[in-house]
Amino acid sequence: MGPVWRHARGDNEWESGMYHLDLAAVQSWNTSGDRYYPGSVSLPCPYCARHTTFRMEGPTFDQVRRTMAASANCPACQQAIHVWGVEPARTTGHEDEKCQSLGIFPAPSASRTPLAGLELLPDNLRKAYRDTLDVYNAGVWRATTTLCRVTLEAIVTDRAPEATGALAERFTALAGSPDLGLPLATLARSLQPGGNLGAQFAETQAADSATATALVSLLEYLLEYLYTLPAQVAHLDRTLAQRDEPAPAPASAAG
Ligand SMILES: [Zn+2]
Repeated sequence: MGPVWRHARGDNEWESGMYHLDLAAVQSWNTSGDRYYPGSVSLPCPYCARHTTFRMEGPTFDQVRRTMAASANCPACQQAIHVWGVEPARTTGHEDEKCQSLGIFPAPSASRTPLAGLELLPDNLRKAYRDTLDVYNAGVWRATTTLCRVTLEAIVTDRAPEATGALAERFTALAGSPDLGLPLATLARSLQPGGNLGAQFAETQAADSATATALVSLLEYLLEYLYTLPAQVAHLDRTLAQRDEPAPAPASAAG
């Protein structure tokens, strides 16, 4: 079984949905009529995944939706992408070169969106994680590796602050922390006959949409924690081990 990343796609698939593109991806702005539009955008091609600069052409302004559409072909694979700038700034009146929001279709191949519940992370950990996503989405692989390590360090610093030594030793200390079992203990308590979840399952309480949403979220977090996460860590470990193995010798010396 391959990894089941929840917030990204597999090696050869891409999400076909509309995607919100950060304005930082815009390399330069052009004008059409009295409106600005992204003249070039830099991102990983949705089709071939090469990090490339798309030169946008055929700008068309939709007066009713106040939206500027433009298209470009990937210089590598020739496939077309389309962008939409919402409420593009006017060239008159000294407005900045920008639009209120930028959409792209299809979604860039390597783009990852932050996980749900980001606001629950401590500030420095959230920043390290966001920085990691930023450099990843910009296609800067070396910096991504470095920031992944910084984020791992922020995790152990937060969850096992008393642990010392190398990153491996600090994670070993974290693995023995009783805090890790706390959510399961809380769940067990809630499932008891007198507990809140126990009462819910016994139908002694009315069900509503908020409760149903919270329960489904709980299931998903548990499934990730107990099944997806262990499989992902094992898969990553195997993948890195295979990459480090020497390449097989060529079958023939000819050529
Ligand atoms: Zn391409």
